[in-house]
Amino acid sequence: MLLRRAHNLIFVSRLVFVFLCAWCINRYNAVAGWPLWTMMTLCQLSVFAQMRLADLATAWLRDDTHETLVSTMPYWEHCPKWVESMFRTWYSASQIYTTVTIIIAGPGMDLYFVMILPYQLYSVLMTFVRKGVISSRTCHVTYFWSLWQSWICGFMLRSPRFFIQTQFLQILIYCTRVYGLNKYVLWIGLCIPVQLSLFHTWPTRSGQELLDYPTMSTMILMWLVLGIGLKFFTSTPLFDSRHARYVEARPKRLILRSREKVSSTLYHLRFDFPWFFRWQGYSSGLQPGQHVKLLCKNASQGLKLWNGHGNLEMSVEHLSRSYTPINSSKEPTVDFIVKYYPSDSSAGFADGGRASKLLCEELKEGDEVWLSGPHGGKVYRGNGNFLVDGRVIKADSICALAGGSGITPVLSLLRQCREECRASYKNPAAQQDLVKEFSVIHAMRSDDERLSPMWYTPITELGLAPRCTVTSLATKEDPALKRQTSTPREGMLARYGKLSTSVVEEIFPAPSENVVVVICGPKGFVDEACLPLLREMNYTNVITMW
Ligand SMILES: Cc1cc2nc3c(=O)[nH]c(=O)nc-3n(C[C@H](O)[C@H](O)[C@H](O)COP(=O)(O)OP(=O)(O)OC[C@H]3O[C@@H](n4cnc5c(N)ncnc54)[C@H](O)[C@@H]3O)c2cc1C
Repeated sequence: MLLRRAHNLIFVSRLVFVFLCAWCINRYNAVAGWPLWTMMTLCQLSVFAQMRLADLATAWLRDDTHETLVSTMPYWEHCPKWVESMFRTWYSASQIYTTVTIIIAGPGMDLYFVMILPYQLYSVLMTFVRKGVISSRTCHVTYFWSLWQSWICGFMLRSPRFFIQTQFLQILIYCTRVYGLNKYVLWIGLCIPVQLSLFHTWPTRSGQELLDYPTMSTMILMWLVLGIGLKFFTSTPLFDSRHARYVEARPKRLILRSREKVSSTLYHLRFDFPWFFRWQGYSSGLQPGQHVKLLCKNASQGLKLWNGHGNLEMSVEHLSRSYTPINSSKEPTVDFIVKYYPSDSSAGFADGGRASKLLCEELKEGDEVWLSGPHGGKVYRGNGNFLVDGRVIKADSICALAGGSGITPVLSLLRQCREECRASYKNPAAQQDLVKEFSVIHAMRSDDERLSPMWYTPITELGLAPRCTVTSLATKEDPALKRQTSTPREGMLARYGKLSTSVVEEIFPAPSENVVVVICGPKGFVDEACLPLLREMNYTNVITMW
């Protein structure tokens, strides 16, 4: 929310600034020569200042770098996907249109003024949506129409030939940006031909120069030159991996791609987005530890008793259950590890778990479930930074205590750390910030619930930081399990026994300012087993992820 406001303010300030620049040179009737060049150069610099300030605001407020203003706008329930996609495309295209206008439009104040209004209007409309005065549908329709005004005015205020030529320029810029070309390269590529065209007809300038000057081909040439320079002489990536976030507060569809049993009680379920969103490169956008709510058909609807107890969910058609995706925020699928609760009369659960039975037994490949989210705070802010009791703690070592299916946030955190390691491949400075050690204690009833090592360090992640050691702690004694068994892969241990200070002491690094402990699992495990034990051992940076 804060980040969205900051970005909006920066965006509008840029328009106000260019409007004032244009007003100044019109006021003193100096629309040629050096005054004109100064005005246009200042406008172009304001584009880069805005991008830099927006980047700084993102880093400062420590939000997701891949969440854009457009991708996080809320939509109404059951909004058709083509409508949502049309709005998003239109908003992104309008942002591009505004920037192109600032770079090429010159001293005309009219368009700048017209453009300030829709962006301000959006902030006001969103406030009304939050206060329940208007619906998000009204907000989008009004904003959509207000953006149209600036296109219509653009068409009326310039010659049709100029307007059409700039549309081609914008389509090319839009497609290149959607493909992910670095935004600084993109806009420097446009500024240079505009500067050259200014000198071409010095000291006067009309929109005609852009038509006469080979702007488009010079821009493509500049992209190539800058791209080669960036690729071979700097560590800055030429393409950003930008992903629109799929998960939203309103329920959206997921389609089951595959289901696999990964231990005696755990199943791995992989879901796809509908093809339209898959094709557009969406990702879940969930940060480690955040979870979603899956809506499943209620098998206990109309039944007074469930597992021998009164059924509190007797009258609801769909159950809402929380699950934590295990993949990193940028992956194109949503993966869950779900604990299976079968019908088991001998254990006192004649009916079993409603959602888990549906997900692990009944759902077929190609079937749909609905999800909403994200829920839960963003406790991990990237590069080892955690938010602990309102303070940002930089961790070199992460220790995780997970009970049963509580291993899921741990896996997503581990994958996010590895993703950061992969991203820092060409940047030695960023490598210093990476988390170095990741120690996991996974407590479970019996050893056959243990996940195989490939869940922690798949072949594709071998050699990437952080180094991960996992100890599976089975509480049920198993004669087949030796006192301590080391699996062939380094860093995996299986043992049985209760969670105790001596076990934790042996596995986790000693408490210190840069050691963060995350705990996830059922309430009893967290409140009764983990928290008192960690307090006793003087671990101060403790985060409960569920
Ligand atoms: C923030 C959050 C994140 C979560 N993330 C995950 C996750 O990633 N993966 C995951 O698997 N779960 C996760 N859970 C738990 C999940 O939301 C459900 O509570 C769980 O799947 C059980 O739901 P159900 O409808 O199947 O059980 P219900 O029908 O609601 O049954 C209630 C309870 O009965 C007990 N029960 C039923 N059958 C048996 C049996 N045969 N043996 C023993 N006990 C039984 C279980 O304790 C079960 O929770 C999360 C919970 C929270 C709060």
